[in-house]
Amino acid sequence: MSEILVLVEHADGDVKKVTLELLTLARSLGEPSAVWAGPGYSDAAKAKLAEYGAAKIYVADGEEIVDYVVAPKAELLAQLVSERSPAGVLVAATAEGKEIAGRLAVKTDSGVITDAVGVGEGFVAEQSIFGGGVNVRSRVTKGTPIVAVRPNSTAPVAEAGAGAEEKVAVALSDTARAAKVVERVKQERGARPELTEAAIVVSGGRGVGSGENFSIIEKLADSLGAAVGASRAATDAGWYPHQFQVGQTGKTVSPQLYIAAGISGAIQHRAGMQTSKTIVVINKDAEAPIFEIADFGVVGDLFQVVPQLTEEIEKR
Ligand code: FAD
Repeated sequence: MSEILVLVEHADGDVKKVTLELLTLARSLGEPSAVWAGPGYSDAAKAKLAEYGAAKIYVADGEEIVDYVVAPKAELLAQLVSERSPAGVLVAATAEGKEIAGRLAVKTDSGVITDAVGVGEGFVAEQSIFGGGVNVRSRVTKGTPIVAVRPNSTAPVAEAGAGAEEKVAVALSDTARAAKVVERVKQERGARPELTEAAIVVSGGRGVGSGENFSIIEKLADSLGAAVGASRAATDAGWYPHQFQVGQTGKTVSPQLYIAAGISGAIQHRAGMQTSKTIVVINKDAEAPIFEIADFGVVGDLFQVVPQLTEEIEKR
């Protein structure tokens, strides 16, 4: 069976959910080989990758491969592409993944497709454009297909693979060593889960009214162990940081539960959350388009509804 390389995304030694999604997708295309780059590899990581179908795990965890520096990872993948001639390479369409994909494409003289929401037979990638209104199918016609897939496009399903480990020695160029991390500053946003990985997301929109008012969204999120999201109206107004924007030009989320408070439901917002399992809407306008995709809706003032909801949840 043809080999598909999957670049592992990990943080603090934990394999991120998007990698489990990519392994699931890769199983439908061939035999997945996970590529671990950087420090933090462990037996637990190995077990996780095997659980989701990695037949092989290439491990390059030497000190020269540093977290959050993309050039060494692109060189590692280029080396593996040249040695193994895989049928394709899948990376997560995150900021880091997309940059690695681009660099890898240049190094291997291959085509690259980013922001795919699926990959089918013949490595035909599907992209969703115009806020989900149009789907485009495309295929790389030169070199090794490299596809960056958006997080939450595929539901991760476990199916055991052999998980055979192979250490890889990378011959890094001077260019790959040219940048190094000088400092790491962790964004303090409490102990909230990462937006694209969270099982529950509570998002606020223009209806929240100000940055200070976002504290009521955060309180509800904390009562549920949820991540906080925001509409573009809220991030553009500077009420909440851009990295928490959900939608076409923000993050795609697909949690078990998505609570939207004071968000009208523009197509660009829906594009980033409409595949959520259960959608709960709080909006004072009964005609707001977001009610069309709601499983449960409350027509009411979020400044009354959200604190009451938080209080009830905290009682349990
Ligand atoms: P509004 O549309 O103004 O809605 C506010 C809602 O709050 C209303 O429905 C109102 O009834 C309700 N409300 C007000 N007060 C209260 C209250 N007290 N209690 C309860 N409800 C209340 N948007 C995104 O979100 N993500 C994107 O990634 C994105 N990308 C875009 C890309 C492009 C190219 C373009 C053109 C637009 C994009 N947008 C995106 C913007 C999008 O079109 C909308 O403008 C935006 O989503 C609106 O945000 P909103 O729903 O918070 O605000």
